[in-house]
Amino acid sequence: MSLQVVTTRRLPSPRDIPASRSQLKSEFRSPVLNTSDVRKIAAQVLGGGRLTESWRRELEAIDRSAKFSRNALSLFQDLQAQLGMRTARPVLLPINNQPFWHRGPHPFANYQSTPRLPGAADVVVIGAGLTGVAAAYRLKDVGLQVVLLDQGDPAGEASGRNGGNFELLPENSVGIYEGLAPGRFTFMRQRYPSVPIEVLQAVSERQASLVLGLALRNRNILKDTIFKEGILCDFSPKGWLHIATNENEEQGLCDEVTLAAQHGQRIAIWSRAKIADEFGIDAAFLGRFIPGDGTYHPFKYVCGELRAALRDGVALYTRTKVRSIVSSDTHGHRIRTSRGEITTRFVIVATNAFTRDLLPELSAIEPYQSQVMVTEHVPDRARGRIVTSDNGPVFFNQPREGAAGGRAPLLMGGGDDRPMKNASSRRRSPMVHARLLSLRDGFYPELVGQPPSAEWVGPMAFTPDGLPCIGFLRPGLIIAAGYNGYGGSYTTAAGHAAAEMAITNVVPDWLPEEIFSPRRLLSNDPLFLTERTGLWRVASSLCQQIESVNRELSEALTLHQATPIAATAPTARILGPAGESLPSNSIEPESLRAFDSFSKFSREEVRDLLCLMRRWNLTKDTVIFTEGSPGGTCFVIVEGAVDVSINAHGQQQLLATLTAGAVFGQMSLIEGVPRSATCSVRADAVLLEIEREPCEELLRSGSAMALKFLATLNEGLISALRGADLRLMQLDPQRTTAEMPKPCAPPSGRIVSNAAEPHRRDIKFDNSLDKTKSWPSSFADVFQASSDECMVARHT
Ligand SMILES: Cc1cc2nc3c(=O)[nH]c(=O)nc-3n(C[C@H](O)[C@H](O)[C@H](O)COP(=O)(O)OP(=O)(O)OC[C@H]3O[C@@H](n4cnc5c(N)ncnc54)[C@H](O)[C@@H]3O)c2cc1C
Repeated sequence: MSLQVVTTRRLPSPRDIPASRSQLKSEFRSPVLNTSDVRKIAAQVLGGGRLTESWRRELEAIDRSAKFSRNALSLFQDLQAQLGMRTARPVLLPINNQPFWHRGPHPFANYQSTPRLPGAADVVVIGAGLTGVAAAYRLKDVGLQVVLLDQGDPAGEASGRNGGNFELLPENSVGIYEGLAPGRFTFMRQRYPSVPIEVLQAVSERQASLVLGLALRNRNILKDTIFKEGILCDFSPKGWLHIATNENEEQGLCDEVTLAAQHGQRIAIWSRAKIADEFGIDAAFLGRFIPGDGTYHPFKYVCGELRAALRDGVALYTRTKVRSIVSSDTHGHRIRTSRGEITTRFVIVATNAFTRDLLPELSAIEPYQSQVMVTEHVPDRARGRIVTSDNGPVFFNQPREGAAGGRAPLLMGGGDDRPMKNASSRRRSPMVHARLLSLRDGFYPELVGQPPSAEWVGPMAFTPDGLPCIGFLRPGLIIAAGYNGYGGSYTTAAGHAAAEMAITNVVPDWLPEEIFSPRRLLSNDPLFLTERTGLWRVASSLCQQIESVNRELSEALTLHQATPIAATAPTARILGPAGESLPSNSIEPESLRAFDSFSKFSREEVRDLLCLMRRWNLTKDTVIFTEGSPGGTCFVIVEGAVDVSINAHGQQQLLATLTAGAVFGQMSLIEGVPRSATCSVRADAVLLEIEREPCEELLRSGSAMALKFLATLNEGLISALRGADLRLMQLDPQRTTAEMPKPCAPPSGRIVSNAAEPHRRDIKFDNSLDKTKSWPSSFADVFQASSDECMVARHT
């Protein structure tokens, strides 16, 4: 309880208050001041409406010389905090643990739309935080009966206890943040250590692009809702500055400029001088500034959105705990609550850190605690903008509520997030308190010694891959949770997406299931390698990577004047092997299963696969197909060897020699592009060929065999990519094998040279299946401007 509360609820009677300050002063000569003494002082000081100079001196003298009981000292520091005064003593954890956002009255405390819960609804939304209320808001005018339930009051948990930021780039990272795509890659490597690195690289780049698309959608819907409903929530899209912690991070931030530009967003890179000018912060490294981000009052926002939802027919029942969800094919879902049962066709679970309590199968979504402190009357240097840094880590802003006369409250959160056993816990950490203080005093040295007026905690939900869960867990049961501390980047869009799913029973294409579905948390196998669309996308990305490396190789081979395998390239276009093919039934399934690439297939599966293929017996030097020919089929080598070569400025250069078990030609099958190399028989060979049409039919079937075959094609692509990389390294020894993925190239997909690290290869991931992208028309300009900005910022 703080003195503010004390003075409004338990004002001392006039008899308790000494008649004059000198009388009061004499009382303080008692050996130890207790809480009632401090209350009397507070009543005097705060009762006057403003702090007079003489009272200030008086309080300073008390601070210097009085003795306090432990509670009295906390209460005294609370008074100092409210007045914006300093103490000469150690700054204690404030007694007030109420979130800044909860200071006003709650318009929906204990709200019940009707005295009794309805027995049925079309959609039940569980959880009235940012996500659940966004879902209810989206559902309000589609003619469905929507019931919103919360075990507490709306925005009582994370949504009313956070830092009040909305951000375009959710910066979850393992260790120091190094940019969105490298961050994704580190998570992926940690989560799926046995998946080939080339696949993880492709998947991470795609994830980064999707995450940014989702966050952008989130910011747009947030803004539109605020304006459409006229929600007064201190919305301040003044920008977000993230200060780098080391050079790697600086590089990562610069790379993000490109990623953002691909989504039509302009991000600025700020030099240290600019940071000092704008914020008065002496930064050691440069920063990334995102103009449209900023702060808002999340509690007021939720209440405004909720008011609109209730107006349009959504029913709200607070203090109603959902105890279980029983799903059946015939009845939909039975929601058992502390106030009775509701039957529904669709249920949206928006319970974030509490999800595993309700659905133990989602125990991978773990609650973590974050702590925030508020300091009053701080010079308003942030002016509605956010600042973050991994050095802490720390986030802070100065919300617009209470900003006046060049001063504003300062909200500072940070220290490492801590796992929680119980998501409802309100226990604060004295260690985090100490950390927050030192971070605060580092950024605002003028605050040293000023006690914070309140400090609170709240629960966040973390997932093992750092991505949110938005999608169907089972038919009709939709999850929207797990934002890894970045609800400000996701929750509004996640709520809307969950609502769309309840309306259409379909997952929007901007939330591909293999990336965002909660089902990915039910197993350790990556969905992106066990489902058809995921595998296909990986294949497509690998093809593009190979194309890029082949282009690089062609350049390098010319540059290094490597010995050609033939003086001139074949002039005639050869589309396929000459002569007659044979049926493939003469091939023994076991001979294929003996190869690593087909070892996962059963005998029956190989037999079925062989039915889709034809056999070629080819003699040495036969050209199978030439570079640039249309293609559309792929081959498996059963016996013999095949040379792969490319035309480098008129000369035929060998890239690789493939032996039995290898698959080749799949790029033109997957991408439908012309052959990217010439293949010819090095030693008499037996090959199997499959055409695009039966292959597509097989893949469309989605059978286990189809997925295995797609995985085999991918393995072939990975080994081709590794072979090409190796060849490139032989030509250019400066290249290293430990190439880290570097996110996102300009839309052309061409290689972006990186003067500092020439070995780092940038390849654009194909997102053609996503409709989230809107390329700026003058992308090249944006990209060029941004790159220049990075260079300039680094040298100023
Ligand atoms: C201290 C702190 C600082 C943060 N800072 C930031 C930040 O700076 N930037 C940022 O982007 N994000 C931040 N976040 C994260 C962000 O606040 C959350 O991601 C976001 O609020 C999640 O919203 P939600 O609606 O999904 O979950 P919540 O707001 O937690 O809502 C879940 C609701 O479900 C209800 N519920 C749970 N179980 C049941 C049940 N069985 N029956 C009925 N109701 C139930 C709860 O009562 C609760 O109201 C922070 C979070 C915290 C705690």
